[in-house]
Amino acid sequence: MTPNTDLNLPLFERAKTIIPGGVNSPVRAFNAVGGTPRFVQRAQGAYFWDTNDQQFVDYIGSWGPMILGHGHPEVVATVQAAVLEGFSFGAPTEREVVLAEKIRELVPSMEMLRMVSSGTEAGMSALRLARGYTGRNKIIKFNGCYHGHADSLLVKAGSGLATFGASSSAGVPADVVKDTIVLEYNDVAQLEEAFAKIGNEVACVILEPIAGNMNFVRASVEFTRRIRELTQEHGALMIYDEVMTGFRVALGCAQSLYAQQIEGFVPDLTVLGKVIGGGMPMAAFGGRREIMQKLSPLGPVYQAGTLSGNPIATACGLKTLELISQPGFHAELHLKTGHLMQGLKAEADAAGIPFSIDWQGGLFGFYLLPELPSTYHAVMKTDGALFNKFYHGMLARGHYFAPALYEAGFVSSAHTEADIERTVEAARAVFQTL
Ligand code: PMP
Repeated sequence: MTPNTDLNLPLFERAKTIIPGGVNSPVRAFNAVGGTPRFVQRAQGAYFWDTNDQQFVDYIGSWGPMILGHGHPEVVATVQAAVLEGFSFGAPTEREVVLAEKIRELVPSMEMLRMVSSGTEAGMSALRLARGYTGRNKIIKFNGCYHGHADSLLVKAGSGLATFGASSSAGVPADVVKDTIVLEYNDVAQLEEAFAKIGNEVACVILEPIAGNMNFVRASVEFTRRIRELTQEHGALMIYDEVMTGFRVALGCAQSLYAQQIEGFVPDLTVLGKVIGGGMPMAAFGGRREIMQKLSPLGPVYQAGTLSGNPIATACGLKTLELISQPGFHAELHLKTGHLMQGLKAEADAAGIPFSIDWQGGLFGFYLLPELPSTYHAVMKTDGALFNKFYHGMLARGHYFAPALYEAGFVSSAHTEADIERTVEAARAVFQTL
């Protein structure tokens, strides 16, 4: 496609005159990889078509929600029926109760939960609740984990415990982030040092159990165990942000995987999003009953939302959860995602390109690095120029991965082995050019 015939280009120019950067969420702008974003026209199953009518195999799936692929017929029928019953009421519905019960059945640590409309809202509310419940202000997060764009979470990693909270965004007052402490992911010694110094002032530790915002980095079992022990010893809460991992890495979410390795493991609070809305705006936070009962109107921690528990979003999410609850769903997804990762690795190895892979369920990460990284610093050692060349090679051949080396990838149940084989074949050709 020459630039003259690429219809994405004039659309992007037009978008940029009215929407900052031309996009409604920054990573869509292709800033990391350069070039013109693809404007999506429509999607079906494992594919979407851009404004040029070029087909792409979609390995983003709306950044996670589309675990069944696009336009699953049963989900579409459910949403169509829900639309006819009304868009939004601002009053409770039975479907919210049914969805909440379904989530609790799959994630028993969520004894009570509340629905909101985005992961950001859910994370922000969980933090307020943790602070309200413990009566403490300090929170600990980890470098490379993303929990939405709430003010107190937009914090850069400092050079050590002495440097609390430098905001990573303009417009966030230093005062708002002074109680946010950023530590290195998977660094047990640093965690222990922090708790030794300020453990009794910590309201909560929040983490992604598998960090999907620095590509794909698992929290080690030892790291997870120590967070659980130290928070319990010091009266702080452990918040699991499963917005990305929830229902994607396993039916019981990442916490069910860690519970297999850590006796009795449960987080105090869990944050969900993405898959629970099946592509509609829907997220939730929940956990231990005595904590959740601090929420308004029962308790003193305020939280609310005009569109929370939206009837169309709940219908879409509920049907999605029902469909992914079929026996063997995640095992099959894990196998298929593995074929993609192993296929890419085999081609990279054959071409002499350093390459490492990891995956769980329908979530994956690959690195142009010889060894899997376990911290943000290690992830960022990736050769960005090499990644961008790989990225654009795949894009030109119709395979759409996340447009940044620090983002995870997503496989849906709609992807076929033939789709994966096509992607691996394309990668063979692209690796030859690197
Ligand atoms: N937490 C995690 C782990 C996420 O990946 C994201 C979004 N990618 C969020 C929170 C924020 O969710 P949202 O974009 O729906 O606000």
